[in-house]
Amino acid sequence: MTMRASSRYSVLKGKLENLAGELKLQIDAARFAIQIDPERPAEQTEESVDGVQRDIEITLFEAKVATLDRVYGALRRLEQGNYGNCPNCGDEIAEKRLMALPFAVRCKDCEEQREEAAAAEITRRRRVAAGLEVG
Ligand SMILES: [Zn+2]
Repeated sequence: MTMRASSRYSVLKGKLENLAGELKLQIDAARFAIQIDPERPAEQTEESVDGVQRDIEITLFEAKVATLDRVYGALRRLEQGNYGNCPNCGDEIAEKRLMALPFAVRCKDCEEQREEAAAAEITRRRRVAAGLEVG
């Protein structure tokens, strides 16, 4: 690892550690917000505004847990020395991308390809569901 890369990684490590700390606080707060109120069984609130709000909070909570998982994954890769390289094509992930998204796993090109493939798959499934294509 070059000097430049190693100082870049220590900046990113700091970013990732801050992010992990923030996410942990948010996850704790979210966990508190969505815990079932023992005074009011869940069935009674299911169709209410409270129920909708709770669904949103659960979705946000799950998204934060998933992000924290990616942050920990990035910290692990940093420790193991294989951080910053795309597992798909082996290229170095652009510095700009890592600064914006320090827990990015793939380079921009591979991530875009993956998203396109995922979007194409969703479209295909919709077409199959609509009877426009054979599954
Ligand atoms: Zn790649």
